[in-house]
Amino acid sequence: MPAEIDGCLRFRRVAPSFAAAALFIAGAVRAAPPPELILFHGRILTVDAQDSIAAGVAIRDGKIVALGTDREILRLAGPTTRRIDLHGRTATPGLIDSHAHIADGGVGELYHVDLSDASSVAEVVRRVQARIAALKPGEWLLGDGWDEGKLAERRYVTAADLDPVSAHNPVWLTHTTGHYGTANSAALKLAKISAASEDPPAGTIDRDAARAPTGVLKESAQDAVINLIPPPTALQQRNGILKSIDDLHREGVTGVKDPDIGQPVWDAYRELLREGKLSEHVCVLWHAGSTLASAQAALASIQRAPRPPQSLGDGRLLSCGAKIYMDGSGGGRTAWMTQEWHKNSTDIDRGNFGYPSTDPEVYRQMVALFHRAGVHVGTHAVGDRAIDWVVDTYAQVLGETPTVGLRHSIIHANIPSDHALKTMAELQARYDAGYPEAQAPFMWWIGDTYAGNFGPERALRLVPLNTYLKMGIRWGGGSDYPVTPLAARYGLWASVERETLKGTYGAHPFGTAESVDIHAALRSYTAWGARQLFLEDRIGSLEVGKDADIAVWDRDMYTMPAAQLRNLKCTMTLFQGRVVYDSKRR
Ligand SMILES: [Zn+2]
Repeated sequence: MPAEIDGCLRFRRVAPSFAAAALFIAGAVRAAPPPELILFHGRILTVDAQDSIAAGVAIRDGKIVALGTDREILRLAGPTTRRIDLHGRTATPGLIDSHAHIADGGVGELYHVDLSDASSVAEVVRRVQARIAALKPGEWLLGDGWDEGKLAERRYVTAADLDPVSAHNPVWLTHTTGHYGTANSAALKLAKISAASEDPPAGTIDRDAARAPTGVLKESAQDAVINLIPPPTALQQRNGILKSIDDLHREGVTGVKDPDIGQPVWDAYRELLREGKLSEHVCVLWHAGSTLASAQAALASIQRAPRPPQSLGDGRLLSCGAKIYMDGSGGGRTAWMTQEWHKNSTDIDRGNFGYPSTDPEVYRQMVALFHRAGVHVGTHAVGDRAIDWVVDTYAQVLGETPTVGLRHSIIHANIPSDHALKTMAELQARYDAGYPEAQAPFMWWIGDTYAGNFGPERALRLVPLNTYLKMGIRWGGGSDYPVTPLAARYGLWASVERETLKGTYGAHPFGTAESVDIHAALRSYTAWGARQLFLEDRIGSLEVGKDADIAVWDRDMYTMPAAQLRNLKCTMTLFQGRVVYDSKRR
């Protein structure tokens, strides 16, 4: 139960260290200049160790200098202090997304055809046709976000669908997971993909009954097309980031881990930081590829920046570590599993166990390289077999070179085995490593596709948040944007409700035994997320001395019906004490 922070109770009910710090700061405040800003008459969910709730907060130099009752906070105000009356509204720490591709996702939103809400193949084709009218012959048309689970036909978009409207332009439509996409025939031709092409290592060319490519390319098979597409310009990259930051502010999100970046994205972040426009905590993972040579190149890039928790720009930009892919996707049935994939829930996808996307032995060498250099590793692992390999690798390198605090993570960790769960718990307790960075919104946004592919039994084990809680495993919440929408409120909701978008296989094919309550869900999007950004000393909870990153909401997420959490509205966002979003001013 949350302990209310109110006057005399405060020092009795909260931890002694907090009380001492508050006393010290309260003493200092009288001598020091008054706070620049106070928020009062609110319900401030601090997400501190006791889940305390305060009424007011005082801020100076971007930091929290006091928390307490209205009387205590208002007393600190001086003649120049700006006062914001919350009128009883709820505030939380700025939310943290431990896995969101905000740079690439922003570029997609601004410059590609949006297919994320297309509800039929015909609609996808219509949108492609409309955009192609504005292109010159030969120019690429790029689209993002389709998902067969949301299409009335419940099948892939194919080249045959696209060709009638795109004879003179190559087209590439990325699936919402990013692990597969559809090329039209013009793009297949440029990429030299034909019926005679072999599947590349760790990739799948989808084929029809006559073995001709359908246009759908999975995992590494996508590269033949993607490598032909002109990369975004520096201006587009920068606009993409700014678009995402604006969207994050509207949703009360003030910290993000952007995984899988390269030099152009890093350069764009640095430029925005220099210009004072990076009003967000961003921790990046560098793309490490799937060879030892690519890992060495990534390591060199990582080591050119300060080592976390050191940052550039006062906690705004961190070069956090390396990202490696162990396997593929639960959408494309390419993730590496111990049992065959399903189709349409109960059909078996015979002989398909998925596959590793990096050679498992090479993966192990790559992790050892980073680990020995003291660099954090985040590994994408969806299937149970991939997750086992990843946690065993972490256990091995930590056993050989024991290091506490690198927080190696299992990105997605969709369906961990009992062995993996036990190993995560041990690694966390012993080495401060082995953290799942989990996406509850998968169960919603791509939940119908997922439920069909995992099948009825395995679906119940997906994103096992309650088991994590019971085993003392902490996790970071995340959207994997643009795989699912950016707003973290969807993740808060999905952590509790585990409901799919369309209910193709029932509303709750993942069951509710692995649901957690909003207190745990919020912690995964605040305090636990902060840890995965190496920023737990400065963000993730509202405590004296921490950054004043604060989100104000239209409702109290601790008391409102959980089913409505996804409809929460952020009314104001503060980043380091500055109002970066105010719904009334838009
Ligand atoms: Zn991702």
